[in-house]
Amino acid sequence: MSGRPFILDALFQATKVVPGVGPRIGKLLEKLTGPRVVDLFWHLPSGVIDRRYSPPLRSAQAGQVGTFTLRVEEHFPPKRQGLPYRVKCTDGTGWIDLTFFNVKGDYLEVQLPVGETRVVSGKLEFYSGYLQMPHPDYIVREEDRDQIPPVEPVYPLTAGVTQKVLLKIIRAALTRAPELEEWLDGPHKQREGWPDWYAALMAAHNPEDAAALSPEHPARRRLAYDELLSNQLTMALVRQNQKKQKGRVLAGDEKLYQKALAAFPFELTGAQKTALDEIRADMREPARMHRLLQGDVGSGKTAVAFLAMVHAIGGTGDGHGCQAAIMAPTEILARQHEHNLTPLAEKIGLSVVTLTGRNKGKARKEILEKIESGEAHIVIGTHALFQEDVNFHDLGLVIIDEQHRFGVHQRLQLSEKGKLADVLVMTATPIPRTLTLTLYGDMDVSRLNEKPAGRQPIETVLVSSDRMGEVTDALARKIAAKERIYWVCPLVEESEKLDLAAAEDRYHSMKEHFGERVGLLHGRMKATDKDAVMTQFAMGELDILVSTTVIEVGVDVPEATVMIIEHAERFGLSQLHQLRGRIGRGAGKSTCILLFSPNTNEVARKRLTTIRDTEDGFVISEEDLKLRGAGEMLGTRQSGLPAFRLASPEFHQDLIATAFDDARLIIDRDPDLLSERGIALRTLLYLFERDTAIKYLRSG
Ligand code: ADP
Ligand code: MG
Repeated sequence: MSGRPFILDALFQATKVVPGVGPRIGKLLEKLTGPRVVDLFWHLPSGVIDRRYSPPLRSAQAGQVGTFTLRVEEHFPPKRQGLPYRVKCTDGTGWIDLTFFNVKGDYLEVQLPVGETRVVSGKLEFYSGYLQMPHPDYIVREEDRDQIPPVEPVYPLTAGVTQKVLLKIIRAALTRAPELEEWLDGPHKQREGWPDWYAALMAAHNPEDAAALSPEHPARRRLAYDELLSNQLTMALVRQNQKKQKGRVLAGDEKLYQKALAAFPFELTGAQKTALDEIRADMREPARMHRLLQGDVGSGKTAVAFLAMVHAIGGTGDGHGCQAAIMAPTEILARQHEHNLTPLAEKIGLSVVTLTGRNKGKARKEILEKIESGEAHIVIGTHALFQEDVNFHDLGLVIIDEQHRFGVHQRLQLSEKGKLADVLVMTATPIPRTLTLTLYGDMDVSRLNEKPAGRQPIETVLVSSDRMGEVTDALARKIAAKERIYWVCPLVEESEKLDLAAAEDRYHSMKEHFGERVGLLHGRMKATDKDAVMTQFAMGELDILVSTTVIEVGVDVPEATVMIIEHAERFGLSQLHQLRGRIGRGAGKSTCILLFSPNTNEVARKRLTTIRDTEDGFVISEEDLKLRGAGEMLGTRQSGLPAFRLASPEFHQDLIATAFDDARLIIDRDPDLLSERGIALRTLLYLFERDTAIKYLRSG
């Protein structure tokens, strides 16, 4: 049973209840807008037709849409097939031909009787020196002049649905829009100068000019804010619910923890210390931890993860130890964690197992047994960890090392595995603060914004690819000096096959030039082959590793000091930053060469200078967001971003921050949304289909 207020019911009916929507259009709308009436509300115009242009014909410009009061002079039926039917008209200052293809003369004689005056609106064209208006949009009598809207919205379309049809349907749908109790904070609304929800919706669909389409327009901002608030409120409710969930106190084992600290050959950075203080404090609380650890590449998340695991393994403080699991997005990364963590763990007497899709049969069974008996303290794996038959002895901490972003609900699912386990999510992609709020508003956040000491800055240079010869010469010198080189091949749009071809070509030409010590790595290789090549490179058996962007995901070879990125102009800034993070990991000085194609335009070149001039991933991500928008920046498919219909993360950053604060304040004051505003906010949640969030509320 739905607790949705009745007033919204009409909005959640199928579009077929709207006049003009039959089965055929209904199907098309389903793809274009969505299946329900409310989806039509959210389909906002992307343009306007301004019909107010109305000069004397003598000075009218072709290409413009305009409205004219004309006297009909003469009809000219087409002389032969393929020519239009012409109706010659005048406004007293000049002449115009209204032209029609495939329209019956009888009909036109009724519409445009000779000697009478009509108001006509449409697009002007010049055709061999004559002013024309092909197929006017409107032909009305003078007294019906106001049937022609001065400004008309233009909607994004799909094949099979015309502008005229969609406009009519949306108009009809909007008649079902109710007035709703205000859910916004009064003073906030006033400060922003926002209209009521109903008025905002109407204004958004009736733009008075092109400026009204701007995301900055008060009506659009109000609607965007409503959507963002529903999103943030949902996350605040998820968070509140998680805080109420029973977890357990993991006090840790201080002796073990100190031993682990001593196992590192370095001091923790201030940021690492702070993050660990926050993480350990969460684990000591009886509520479950849901924390995000955000850190740039090379900021030392692995060390933090390890120490968090050691704390969890220390257990409940009464001698009862726990297990900790870390889930990586790919086989390579799981193996890398294994490679990095195993020696550390062994130093302090902890045992590690790794479980991925690659483990089959008897080997898999043995691993499962170690997980189930508790013999394994640290469990590393891929998604394979979350399969049915994986049973932990006593899982205290789950770390999710994210590559693709999981949505709130997927996160909830994953954390089900260890019923009471604390959850730490790690991301290696710095993202702008506002996107962090949108994606992880349900979590507490720790940021590693400091690089370990002793890192040398990476020198980044932009080089036009017609200077490839100089680059290869420079490489020869680097190789002579025993440095190791990543060569990243261009990203070819949407096509893994072409990516591969480009990488293979480069691989062969590098081999010709530099001999056998060149390797190739790409996404289509078998996991074992990938590992073999990576290992060769890591061991120094290869000087150059040619690859597609598969190396983006956190491979660590401290001896690699040079990175060449071909066609750097085709990559996003954040992606370039991620790639570059593969070098500059050791003590040696590192160089990143961004090769761009000589015909790269000024804007794209300028974009690359951002990468050249800073290594701060958070700064780069803010820039990337502005340049490309959130979907592009995060990778459309894996962005994990909620599919906003009204808000746009790049334009409404200030609103995201406000909605975040607003939502947390609301929940603090009225945790079950029972006040007058709370009830209105419930309606808001239903309006944006956050029904699941409402499950978390005590009913009023
Ligand atoms: P991330 O996972 O954040 O990309 P890593 O944890 O892999 O970074 O750390 C990158 C490198 O820095 C590793 O070689 C690691 O041993 C080293 N490192 C981590 N923390 C410190 C520190 N506090 N001081 C010096 N080196 C560190
Ligand atoms: Mg790491």
